[in-house]
Amino acid sequence: MRPFECVRATDPAQAVAMVAVDPAAAYLAGGTTQVDLMLKDGIVSPQRLVDVTRLPLNWITATASAIRVGATTTMEELAADPTISERLPFVRDALLLSASVQLRNMATIGGNLLQRTRCRYFRDPTVEACNKRQPGTGCGAVTGAARMHAILGASANCIALHASDLAVTLVALDTIVHILSPGGMRQVPLTEFYVEPGATPQIENVLAHGELITEIEIPLLPPDARSAYLKVRDRTSYEFALTSAGVAVVLEAGVTRALHTVTGTTP
Ligand code: SF4
Repeated sequence: MRPFECVRATDPAQAVAMVAVDPAAAYLAGGTTQVDLMLKDGIVSPQRLVDVTRLPLNWITATASAIRVGATTTMEELAADPTISERLPFVRDALLLSASVQLRNMATIGGNLLQRTRCRYFRDPTVEACNKRQPGTGCGAVTGAARMHAILGASANCIALHASDLAVTLVALDTIVHILSPGGMRQVPLTEFYVEPGATPQIENVLAHGELITEIEIPLLPPDARSAYLKVRDRTSYEFALTSAGVAVVLEAGVTRALHTVTGTTP
C-alpha cells in the first residue's frame, strides 16, 4: 500500500480549492468505490484524499416539480424518502436493488454516479491491457473473454459498462447534475454527463479535475404516472446487472409518453 494523506474539508468551496490545484488529490465520500480501488484492487493511488462527508451536502428537499438531493445523501436515505416512494417509485426500486443495505448506508448519491466500472480487467492490476487504466495499452476485454460488458455505447478501445442502477432511472428522468467548479456553479443534464469511450476511455464524464457534484435535481413524475425498473442479474441480491431498464409512462393530454433508459451487456 502506498502512503496517503487524508484531510477533511469544511465547506464545498474549500474542498474544490484543495483538489483542483493538486493533480494527486481526490475526493473521499462514502468510500465504497474509492477505498476498494486504492486498498483492495491497488489500481489508483491518490496521495491526498479530501473527505467531503462532513460537508453540508446531506439533504433532500422537494418542490412541486422536482426533488433536489444533496450529493452526500446516502442511497439508503434517498430510498427512504417519501417523495421518492410516491412520485418516483422506480428510482426507489433501482436504489434498493443495488448492492447491500450495508453498502447503501455508506454509499453517497454523488459517489454512485461516479463509481468506476466493474470490468474485471480494469480492476486487476496484473492485467496490462486496459486503455481506461493506462491509455494505449489495449483492451483485455475486446481481445479476450468478455462478460457483463457493453453492447451499446462501446468502442473498439473499451467496452466497459457503468454499473449504476440509479443512473439508469435518472437518465430517463432528465436529471440535472449541479457541479461546483473553481470558477462557480454549473449544471449539466445527466444525459450529457457521461462520455462514450471512443478513443479516450479514460475520460468517463464531463467533470474536470477538482469539480465536485453538490446536488442532483430530479424532475418528479405526475402522480398518475407508472414506472418500473427491471434488473436482470446472475443472483437475486448483491449483484450487478447483466442488463437493466428503467421505464416511466406518462399520460399527457390523452397522449401516452414513455421515458426510458436501457443498458445492454454481453451475457
Ligand atoms: Fe479496460 Fe475498458 Fe477494456 Fe475493461 S473494457 S479492459 S475497462 S479498456
